[in-house]
Amino acid sequence: MSTIIYPSPIFGPVHSRRLGISLGINLLPADGKVCSFNCIYCECGFNEDHRPTLPMPTREEVAEKLEEKLKQMVADGQLPDVLTFAGNGEPTCHPHFAEIIDDTIRLRDHYCPKAKVSVLSNATMIHRQAVHDALMRVDNNIQKLDTIDPIYINKVDRPVGNYDVNRIIEGMKAFHGHVIIQTMFMRSQESGVRSQETGDRSQESVDNTGEEYVAPWLEAVKEIKPQQVMIYTIDRETPAHGLLKATHEQLDAIRDHVIAAGIPCTASY
Ligand code: SF4
Repeated sequence: MSTIIYPSPIFGPVHSRRLGISLGINLLPADGKVCSFNCIYCECGFNEDHRPTLPMPTREEVAEKLEEKLKQMVADGQLPDVLTFAGNGEPTCHPHFAEIIDDTIRLRDHYCPKAKVSVLSNATMIHRQAVHDALMRVDNNIQKLDTIDPIYINKVDRPVGNYDVNRIIEGMKAFHGHVIIQTMFMRSQESGVRSQETGDRSQESVDNTGEEYVAPWLEAVKEIKPQQVMIYTIDRETPAHGLLKATHEQLDAIRDHVIAAGIPCTASY
C-alpha cells in the first residue's frame, strides 16, 4: 500500500497546474499521522497504522524552517504562489495553530507578499474561537464537508470522538462567507468496501453521488453560503479497498447544481 507520510514542518514545493507553486506546511509529526478524522480514503493511511513517535513541531521550529525555506526560494528566484497547511493529518489539532498562522502571514508579507495562505481542514476544531479567528485571517479557508448524513460520516470520515454535523454547519456559517467547502464524492464496488489489513472493515456501499446524499448536502451548502465549493474524487491508492472514483459526468452534474444555486464550484477528476 502506498500511503504518504510527509516531512514536517515544511515540505515541497509541489508544482500543480491548479495552484501553481505550493509550499506545504505540515504541523503534524514527521513520522506519523494525527487526525480527528480517520477517513477510509486518506492518502496518509489509517490513523492506527501510522501512530507517530515524534512530537508535533513547535511554533518556533515552524517559523524558523519556513523562513529558511522562503529565503532559499527568494535566492533561487522561485517564489511560492501559495503556502498550504496540509500534511499528516489535521492542522488545527496543533495547540498553537493560531499563533503559527500569524507567524506565517508575517513571513509571507515579508518574503512573498503575492502568495496566498491556504488551510486544508476537516472543520472539527472550528468551534474554537482562536481557530475560527485564525481561519478568518487566511486567504483560503478550505473546510471539508463530505456529506451531512451522520451514518455516512461514521462510515467514511470516521470522526475520532464526538462529532455533530449540525454544529459543524453552524461553525461554517459563522465564517460569513469566508470559507471554501471541499467535498469528496466517490462510489464503491458492488462487493462493498474493506480494509487492506483486516479485510472486513465494512462491506457496505459508500457511494455519496446519489440524489439522497447530494440534495441535503446542497441545502446545507446553501445555508453556509461559502465563497466557493470544490468537489473532487479519489486520486490515489486508498487504505480501504473497493473505493471507486466518481465519474466525470457525476461530478459535472453536482458541480452544475451548485453553480445553479449561485455558488462558484470547481470539479477535480
Ligand atoms: S481529514 Fe484529511 S488527513 Fe484526516 S483522515 Fe481525513 S483525509 Fe486524512
